[in-house]
Amino acid sequence: MSNHTKSVEVTPESIWNCIVDRLERELPRQTFLTWFKPLEAVSFDGRRLTLRVPSRFYYDWIEGHYSQNVRDAADETVGGHIDIAYVVEPNRRSPISLEESTAATIINKKSSRKDYTDSRLNPRYTFDSFVEGDCNRFARAAALAIAESPGMTPYNPLLIYGGAGLGKTHLIQAIGNLVTEKSSNSRVLYVTSEQFTSDFVEAIRSGRSESFSRLYRTVDVLLLDDVHFFMAKNKTQEEFFHTFNALHHTGKQLVFSSDCPPRELDGFDKRLVSRLQWGLVAELLTPDFETRLAILERLSEMERVALPGEVAQLIATHIKDNVRTLRSALIHILAQSSLLNRKISVELARKAIKGLVKNPLQGVSIERIQEITAEELGITGDLIRSKTRKKAVSEARQIAIYLCTEMTKSTLKAIGLQFGGRNHATVIHSRNLVKEKMKKDGKFAETIEDLKRRIEITSI
Ligand code: ADP
Ligand code: MG
Repeated sequence: MSNHTKSVEVTPESIWNCIVDRLERELPRQTFLTWFKPLEAVSFDGRRLTLRVPSRFYYDWIEGHYSQNVRDAADETVGGHIDIAYVVEPNRRSPISLEESTAATIINKKSSRKDYTDSRLNPRYTFDSFVEGDCNRFARAAALAIAESPGMTPYNPLLIYGGAGLGKTHLIQAIGNLVTEKSSNSRVLYVTSEQFTSDFVEAIRSGRSESFSRLYRTVDVLLLDDVHFFMAKNKTQEEFFHTFNALHHTGKQLVFSSDCPPRELDGFDKRLVSRLQWGLVAELLTPDFETRLAILERLSEMERVALPGEVAQLIATHIKDNVRTLRSALIHILAQSSLLNRKISVELARKAIKGLVKNPLQGVSIERIQEITAEELGITGDLIRSKTRKKAVSEARQIAIYLCTEMTKSTLKAIGLQFGGRNHATVIHSRNLVKEKMKKDGKFAETIEDLKRRIEITSI
């Protein structure tokens, strides 16, 4: 694939999604929902991201109040400067009344394709794009079983729980997408608990709580995201309790997500907690290294980019918390490559993801080289630092010294000191020995290069 040598294209949506993630974290919830949720990315040419705003008013408001937030979030996302441009295009997503807005989320096959921007089901969240690994196999299998025969499995309700960014929303929306794809008559409703709550409050306020209740009771599959949000909201819980009963009673499928297991849902009506556990409770775990690699591979496939193996390893080594950060790391890298017009390398990737790594190891240190060299050559770091002159040890030591001179900015004296108090002449001698051997022995040179790459990947 040619992408190893060429910079890559990155889709406007993927950059915008990352910027939006950032804005969502920084801005008050309501502000975010009102002003940023309705925007869409229309193009990105490496320097300029163009956003579609629904009206002139939106544009004025955003420019007047949040332009700095958008610019900062954009620059931080790509790790460099990009311009933001807006086009005003009156809209498919203009504000809609309660009834319309709730009704719009009930979708069927006929409308799902063209109107997805009006529904709350994201067409990207499918089983196909959900990478399977040990961390999610069980939850995924349960979700798939339900999507294939909603209401007909013992898994009713299904509750999926796990930390932020682990794929809860993706998985429960995948159920919705598959159900609507298989059966155009099925009425699927995806709603966040936050939305459910505010729709409910609004319905009461405007004296339309009956139509609210009725609407929720006509669905075949109810996907309720982030149910922990109901904590201590007694009235909403009560309304929901009745919705639950009505749907369950008539064999409709219920699916929930939560950021914790049901028993930890404090401030919840006990009867509701018990109902949430009537069916199946499945946990999403943090992905292990292999799954992180698999996810990266799949994500880059979806972005139509060939991600060099070493870069994938670099990301998977350092970005451990969840899939969302893996995704942003990847997008950062693609954006940088596109912005700087450079191919994706370990070097570029390291710079791009630095800001995302928790407790980064600052640069390549002498100790790190010692540890990794020792590990690769089957001895210990202590031996490398010792005075032992055993052949295997002193060979490993020479290699580590050579790498220190190549990969760190430390002085010869400092390097010598950390190798059992040797002087700078010894350091130079070791370095030359290794250099010579690399020239003569291709296989040895390769081993050293491999080692270098491993050290690069494990340091950020
Ligand atoms: P949560 O709802 O648990 O906070 P999301 O479902 O929003 O997490 O997932 C965060 C991001 O990570 C989304 O972009 C989603 O598509 C992606 N993602 C999560 N899990 C997976 C997975 N197993 N395979 C592919 N993408 C995933
Ligand atoms: Mg979610």
